[in-house]
Amino acid sequence: MCVIEQPGTIVTIPAIVNVDEITDEAPEVKTFYMSFVDPSVGARFTLRSGQFIMCTVFGAGEFAVSLPPSPEHDRFHITVRRVGKVTNALHALRPGDKLGVRGPFGNGFPFADIKGKNIVYVAGGIGLIPLRSSIVHVLQHREDFGRIILLYGARSFADLLYRQNITQWRKTPGFETFITLDRAEPNWDGEVGFVNTLIEKAGVPVDNTVAFVCGPPVMFNSVIGDLLKRGMSEDAIVSTLERQMKCGIGKCQHCAIGRTLVCTDGPVYTYRQIKTLGEVI
Ligand SMILES: Cc1cc2nc3c(=O)[nH]c(=O)nc-3n(C[C@H](O)[C@H](O)[C@H](O)COP(=O)(O)OP(=O)(O)OC[C@H]3O[C@@H](n4cnc5c(N)ncnc54)[C@H](O)[C@@H]3O)c2cc1C
Repeated sequence: MCVIEQPGTIVTIPAIVNVDEITDEAPEVKTFYMSFVDPSVGARFTLRSGQFIMCTVFGAGEFAVSLPPSPEHDRFHITVRRVGKVTNALHALRPGDKLGVRGPFGNGFPFADIKGKNIVYVAGGIGLIPLRSSIVHVLQHREDFGRIILLYGARSFADLLYRQNITQWRKTPGFETFITLDRAEPNWDGEVGFVNTLIEKAGVPVDNTVAFVCGPPVMFNSVIGDLLKRGMSEDAIVSTLERQMKCGIGKCQHCAIGRTLVCTDGPVYTYRQIKTLGEVI
């Protein structure tokens, strides 16, 4: 079989992983904890926050999925919302079943450039999945950054992902968390409204600050608009593009937007780059 190497890519043909544990994260969303059947592959599998893998559900197909674990000291896992054929088959798996994994692929978040800066994470719904890796990594290196702020919006309390993680993260000194639900609920005494309303409430800084924004298109436009109005530079706003991917290694062109291939050049882009692509998220 032809193995195409891409710098930083550890596994180029599907490596077999065992599904060790499955947890319900939110309605239609599950987290799958996995381990490589060949431990030597697992030992070499290193990732950068913001990268993704191609995951094979045998008999159903392959799909792209973000890597939520921190690059350091974290269990290997993915968090997936079921939307169609392959993700439905994934949700039907049980502990002990096997999956295939290729990757990691993509550029990842720009960590070298953000040391010493304030970091604002803005997540809508399952947009928290690709940000989780970066949040854990930054909190593990708290002293290297200024303010660290998470603005997170979900449709309902039940839709909030990683609730136990968030409770833990809140114990890190100086980690500021603002959470909002789209609608009021009987047992919720927190913020109500869309996530962009938190930008003002949190007093988001703009100087020496980078914002990582992930969520559905409707959220993206309002959040970006409010960050720009506040004076944030287009280069300081970073997001991930999601496109249908097949190969993950820049060969099949499924994820091409103009001259960029989201699987290899992305999925992380600055807002200025996204605008240049003429892309509507
Ligand atoms: C880089 C990257 C990272 C991703 N990370 C995650 C993740 O961490 N968790 C997660 O739950 N999902 C993630 N996705 C989306 C996931 O790949 C799709 O939901 C999955 O491929 C759907 O496969 P399916 O066969 O179940 O559904 P399909 O039958 O293929 O699709 C069901 C519906 O979803 C739409 N759809 C499928 N894929 C995409 C896409 N990439 N962009 C927009 N719409 C799409 C289809 O048009 C269709 O309407 C990611 C996608 C990319 C490209």
